[in-house]
Amino acid sequence: MDLAQFGARPDGGVNRQALSPEDIAGRAQFITWCEEQGYACSSDAVGNLFVRRAGTDPYADPVLTGSHLDSQPTGGKFDGAFGVLAGLEALQALDDTGIITRRPVEVVAWTNEEGSRFQPGCMGSSVFIGATGMEDILGCRDRDGVLVADALAQTLAAAPNLPRRSMAFPIAAYVECHIEQGPILEQAGKTIGIVTGIQGYRWFAVEVRGQEAHSGTTPRRAQKDALKAASAMVNALETLMIDESDTLRFTIGRFEVEPGSPNVVPGRVFFTIDMRHPDQAVLAARAAAVEATCRAAAGTCEVTVTQTFATPPIAFDGAVVDLVAETADRLGLPSMRLGSGAGHDAGYMARVCPSAMIFVPCEKGISHHPAEFATSADLAAGTRVLADMLADLANR
Ligand SMILES: [Zn+2]
Repeated sequence: MDLAQFGARPDGGVNRQALSPEDIAGRAQFITWCEEQGYACSSDAVGNLFVRRAGTDPYADPVLTGSHLDSQPTGGKFDGAFGVLAGLEALQALDDTGIITRRPVEVVAWTNEEGSRFQPGCMGSSVFIGATGMEDILGCRDRDGVLVADALAQTLAAAPNLPRRSMAFPIAAYVECHIEQGPILEQAGKTIGIVTGIQGYRWFAVEVRGQEAHSGTTPRRAQKDALKAASAMVNALETLMIDESDTLRFTIGRFEVEPGSPNVVPGRVFFTIDMRHPDQAVLAARAAAVEATCRAAAGTCEVTVTQTFATPPIAFDGAVVDLVAETADRLGLPSMRLGSGAGHDAGYMARVCPSAMIFVPCEKGISHHPAEFATSADLAAGTRVLADMLADLANR
């Protein structure tokens, strides 16, 4: 609740977009809390913040936990912030109980997970592991034309005393706490989600070109109506994406009609496709049929289909996933396995070290919204599982 004051919205939500003044102030508060507890903070060149609790072997690779402090413009209090603060709470719990670990335990706040102000999202974690280069992100601009390079320089300059950390240092294991952002745990009455992986997704941009014409003078048989062609494509795609198990996700989130005049036959339509599935074979097969499906429905119009983004499904490390389950059982917390519908920094970390996620329920599955809510009891339960796992993993 204290962190949610940074970027607080009148409707109870949070607007703490990446590298904004609100994000910078929230980071400063987080650093203060860490330093008050005696933990050393550091930052890498992309602004990822690290907090370290030393182990007995200073040369051992650390166990890492964390999430992100940035939010959507109309975000809530819990998405990301929970995972970072759970990490700090877990460090304090290790101190309070006098647990000594061989490996250091570190908490990270990744830069720009949300990708709402600057695209792409998961910027901090993808640059950290080398999947994206610094040179690929520094030139990205927000809607107002502000460069990542400038916003990042401001963010780093606001904490001038932090030691600069190298990127891609070896990590023994990564565990991320997060609200589920879906309704499954709540509906099942479970407290802990044992996250088995993150579904892959594909994005497409579809441009339909017809012919603008006077709506009154042009006979319908002679019209090349881009909207009617696009509507046929949407219906055909909806049929293509039928899935009895209701696992496949398919969304057309943007649909633009030009010129947008009541008495002009639409000459151009642009729409987007977002499709997701945990099985690469299913995802690839349906994605491969998108262009042909649009062409077949185009009629007298022309269509261009461009794949704009693709990320494969991620399966988390079996041993770390099992450890989430065992720990929840040992603590007497009801749990279930489930996949993540949303992308997370853990998806990038899984490429370089054994990784897993712990989900807790969020009310009605609502997130990316001011109404986002999770109970203190559930957040505490997730944090207990995390603290227990960190102690275990850091002594292996
Ligand atoms: Zn998040």
